Amino acid sequence: MHKQDFPLLTNTPTVYLDSAASAQKPQSVLAAMDTFYRTYYANVHRGQCHIAAQATDLYERARRTIAAFIHAEPDTVVFTKSTTESINLVAAGYERLLRAGDEVLVCIAEHHANFVPWQQACLRSDATFKTFGITSDGTIDMADFNAQLSPRTKIVAVAQLGNVLGVANPVREIVAAAHAVGARVLVDGAQSCAHMPVNVKDLDCDFFAFSGHKLYGPTGIGVLYGKAEALSELPPYQFGGDMIRHVSVAETTFAEVPAKFEAGTPPFVEAVGLAAAVDYVQDIGMETIAEHEQNLTSLLCQGLSDIPGLTMLGDGSLKKGIVTFNVAGIHPADIAFALTQDNICVRVGHHCAMPVHARFHQDVSLRVSFGLYNEPADVATFLTSLHKTISLFGG
Ligand code: PMP
Repeated sequence: MHKQDFPLLTNTPTVYLDSAASAQKPQSVLAAMDTFYRTYYANVHRGQCHIAAQATDLYERARRTIAAFIHAEPDTVVFTKSTTESINLVAAGYERLLRAGDEVLVCIAEHHANFVPWQQACLRSDATFKTFGITSDGTIDMADFNAQLSPRTKIVAVAQLGNVLGVANPVREIVAAAHAVGARVLVDGAQSCAHMPVNVKDLDCDFFAFSGHKLYGPTGIGVLYGKAEALSELPPYQFGGDMIRHVSVAETTFAEVPAKFEAGTPPFVEAVGLAAAVDYVQDIGMETIAEHEQNLTSLLCQGLSDIPGLTMLGDGSLKKGIVTFNVAGIHPADIAFALTQDNICVRVGHHCAMPVHARFHQDVSLRVSFGLYNEPADVATFLTSLHKTISLFGG
């Protein structure tokens, strides 16, 4: 679907099955950034000249486009450099707000970006870091979650869609339970925002983080949404230009959100590139993309089901665009190397999620992940190459 919009995929024979790591870029994103650099480039928020005003206007328009995409108000959308930075911003703030006896509750299946910052914030604040588990099909163990949740819980961190298991989590239910004990919830949307419609109002989450590069946008741009009151209780993350109201030798007062969290020159060309990516996916429709990727996922899981010795992490029927597995007796890196000979890109490793691999008694795994540009022919090419590889290894 729409493969022709992606120069890398039409200029090279690449069968790209690694979109969960980073997605390819459509022509419209490349053009938006190229035009910006060629015609309006000047630093935002500071200059008086006409191109600085145009650049600022484009940057703030990008904020409105991206806010509307997740159903948020523009002044609750902070630009960062990535999901990782968005989560670190919140966790660093909580490091100052947490007290001994407070608890932070994180899903065991989280990417390290939504795990380690919380673990470290707890270490530094004397709060207690707790995890809740998942069942063997890859869904959240809600009984465990509810058992761990208590009035001591100050924040819950969970992904909307896991980057290893590819299963959508019941975020609304988790948020409702967390709010009932007075905890806030941070949702990691790094994977979900490219694969399904996102509505932060409907989720009622307190924070939502994602990266531009997984959503067909550029690298170097991330988003942190936060409810106005949740963002305003956090201290600034970095200090410098653009985030102040007044500075004197005696003291500094800070600007309102979102400027309070956007110290220094922001990634404004990247923000405009991300807005172009959002326009692009919205023109196709997130529901259409979700349905298309669901079909590819089913096709792949069906093709994998008769391979002897194949162990999938989680239940294939629950997966959305991300399928992770191992084949007994063959290291996934050897499989990936063989697939590369057929120009097929997949990912091998722990996918920055060691705890969930430990949960499934695996060190590493091979991950196939789809983007909107993948086609059933890509699945067929992958399966043919995989079968060839397994037979070469004597499987
Ligand atoms: N969370 C999840 C679920 C992810 O998949 C990723 C990227 N693999 C991240 C967080 C981190 O994203 P980034 O590297 O863009 O900060």
